Amino acid sequence: MIAVLKPNVSDQQMQTLITWFKGRGLDVHVSKGKFQTILGLIGDTSQVDIDLLNGLEIIESVKRISEPFKNANRKFHPDDTVVDIAGYKIGGGNFQIIAGPCSVESREQITEIAKRTKAAGANLLRGGAFKPRTSPYSFQGLKGEGIEYLEAAKAVAGTPIVTEIMNINHLPMFENVDVIQVGARNMQNFDLLKELGTTHKPILLKRGLANTISELLMSAEYIMAGGNENIILCERGIRTFETSTRNTLDLSAIPVIKELSHLPVIIDPSHATGVARYVKPMALAAVAAGADGLMIEVHNDPKNALSDGAQSVTPDEFDDIAEKVWKIREVIA
Ligand code: PEP
Ligand code: MN
Repeated sequence: MIAVLKPNVSDQQMQTLITWFKGRGLDVHVSKGKFQTILGLIGDTSQVDIDLLNGLEIIESVKRISEPFKNANRKFHPDDTVVDIAGYKIGGGNFQIIAGPCSVESREQITEIAKRTKAAGANLLRGGAFKPRTSPYSFQGLKGEGIEYLEAAKAVAGTPIVTEIMNINHLPMFENVDVIQVGARNMQNFDLLKELGTTHKPILLKRGLANTISELLMSAEYIMAGGNENIILCERGIRTFETSTRNTLDLSAIPVIKELSHLPVIIDPSHATGVARYVKPMALAAVAAGADGLMIEVHNDPKNALSDGAQSVTPDEFDDIAEKVWKIREVIA
């Protein structure tokens, strides 16, 4: 439920109202705009008498909102959220590319790729250290050692690092990680999400293979309910009947999410298509559609990659993609 206050309401009047709401077991999210203040009521508002509120002198209007997500909802947080990653911003007109291999394979590999992708304009480095693989016999990642190599690459290339967490017990290892990724398979690992809500690290939350946009926003809500509002949403393709690509990229998720939420949304064309030569067209389409960023898998030797080689572009191919991305950004700016 949202309560819009009249323009000239004093702080004291507002506080009295907030105390009244809190007395009814509700949390209140205050959004102070230039001209108007909006109160977002979080919790069970079913018992709140909407007519009574509408009758109060200081309230302009009250509205029940149907969406179950509150913190992530644009309705009472109209301005875009800007997530700041060590000075690099995503959202609210700020665009970033996250690039790097599917898995961290060695110190040299990750450092080399970081230097190349950074030179092409990708400020953020990705690389999996803990890998969620369909088969238990596939490469599972270098784990703690992988994170060390990411940190080493960051020290050389100056690229903040993005890497996936699979188990909340590993959180201490992520102390120097700049963005913690929650992968598609863990989008509804609610205990993990709750725990990440207690950290202040930016979280890259990927959409599940078979999850709706509303479910993605509810997962963001889990993190935000714990107090962490630094969330970047990532569309990475969903399961459909189509088999020509690994997943089907839901590009309309960009305008839909932007309408529903203030959180930044980025596109991962690598996992979406599963085919390196399809990455460029879908990356460019995503930029044209208004994505706040891209996450692209880049490997120095895709044929011998320990994971996702088929969808990884080479550093040279990445240079070409990035160059065209910046051109499209100029056109749509
Ligand atoms: C990844 O980004 O490395 C990854 C495993 O992606 P997803 O969770 O989208 O499958
Ligand atoms: Mn991958």
